[in-house]
Amino acid sequence: MRDKLPCGKGKTLLVVEDSPSNLELLRELFQSLGFEVLTASTANEGLKVLTLCRPDLILLDIQLPSTNGLQFARHLKEDPRTNHIPIIAVTALAMEGDRERILAAGCDGYIPKPTDLQILLEEVARHLSKEREDGSQC
Ligand code: MN
Repeated sequence: MRDKLPCGKGKTLLVVEDSPSNLELLRELFQSLGFEVLTASTANEGLKVLTLCRPDLILLDIQLPSTNGLQFARHLKEDPRTNHIPIIAVTALAMEGDRERILAAGCDGYIPKPTDLQILLEEVARHLSKEREDGSQC
């Protein structure tokens, strides 16, 4: 499985998640793999981070206070400055149709909670390697 782990060297992730314990878990996991991890606990905080920095990938909770993850994803995909950044939704929304709604909002991937971390890592690696084919480096 080692080769499927994401290469975090020089890569920056933004995690948008309102649960402090989930946020810490993801921060520790990805920092241990060498990623720079930016965090936000609301969509608005996420937007502020994005005015300062362009992460290579975003992990996005959908159920957030005030602006939800679907609105946040739509907003980013409508903006040419951010529409190239892959967004992986990490969400407890797992009813019929949720996945389709989330992908329709512009998310590039969908991981249900409780999160299988191996699957999450593979999904992150998959999106980062796509980006690598486009010419960026890892
Ligand atoms: Mn939430």
